[in-house]
Amino acid sequence: MHLLNADLHSHSNVSDGTLSPEDLARRAADQGVELWALTDHDEISGQRRAREAALDLGMAYLTGTEISVSFAGQTVHIVGLGFDDEDAALNAGLAATRGGRTQRAREMAAGLAKVGITGAFEGALKYVGNPELISRTHFARFLVESGVCPDTHSVFRRYLTEGHPGYVPHVWARLGDAVRWITQAGGMAVIAHPGRYKFTPTEEYALFTEFIAHGGQGVEVMTGSHSAAEHIRYADTALEFGLLASRGSDFHSPGESRTELGSLPDLPGRLKPVWEALAARVHGAVA
Ligand code: AMP
Ligand code: MN
Ligand code: MN
Ligand code: MN
Repeated sequence: MHLLNADLHSHSNVSDGTLSPEDLARRAADQGVELWALTDHDEISGQRRAREAALDLGMAYLTGTEISVSFAGQTVHIVGLGFDDEDAALNAGLAATRGGRTQRAREMAAGLAKVGITGAFEGALKYVGNPELISRTHFARFLVESGVCPDTHSVFRRYLTEGHPGYVPHVWARLGDAVRWITQAGGMAVIAHPGRYKFTPTEEYALFTEFIAHGGQGVEVMTGSHSAAEHIRYADTALEFGLLASRGSDFHSPGESRTELGSLPDLPGRLKPVWEALAARVHGAVA
């Protein structure tokens, strides 16, 4: 049986990626992706461009986004797939979620200024494609450019994570709201990269059970954020909770991303892929 090369998690310069939706579509097609979703953070204004570019390249397309959620004191990401991108409540919810980013960025810059790194707000803004979507990634690019750190990963480790000078706690969307915005717009909610969170087993169990209670149906098993051991671990978790499984590189940028578009291992055969349940929501034909 032909296993579909689906990549259902990636970012363009509409959020914190560096490629335009069109260039990202071309790269995905060149890498052999057959079903693609652009999942910009808290923002769906790139969806039409991504869909049109995908269809022009003969790639099937699912609408996508990645919503920032606060849960048990941490930030959790919920991917939405296959929704109607003109849904009013979804658009309003995403706009509200994006709303605090500029103020947060000013506070991040103030924290960095205290340790002698000046001009970080203006510096980060130079990397921003969409002013509403200023993110930690844009600060990281600026700190690499100014020679403070050799790469973006060390910027996060030294400056942008909890306990470090550029970190500002932020309250994002509520889990139930994010899941409902997606599902009521006809889409499917998926827990992004569960291996990245630093939850206790009890908190992780609460995340999965509450997510399902709110109507969530999927979990990323194959993601660029998971180790080989986590691929197996979250395959087991998907089965245990009866969740559909997703696959996505989380590609952001050619120089920065460790996982190329469309390059992850296939989903284990014992799992049910999210895209089978979303077949009616796919734009274009799957080869
Ligand atoms: P924000 O939504 O502004 O908090 O930024 C979160 C983004 O930062 C994520 O989507 C990743 O793209 C990026 N990020 C988070 N942690 C790291 C890390 N350790 N190294 C590199 N990028 C990271
Ligand atoms: Mn990102
Ligand atoms: Mn994420
Ligand atoms: Mn992502």
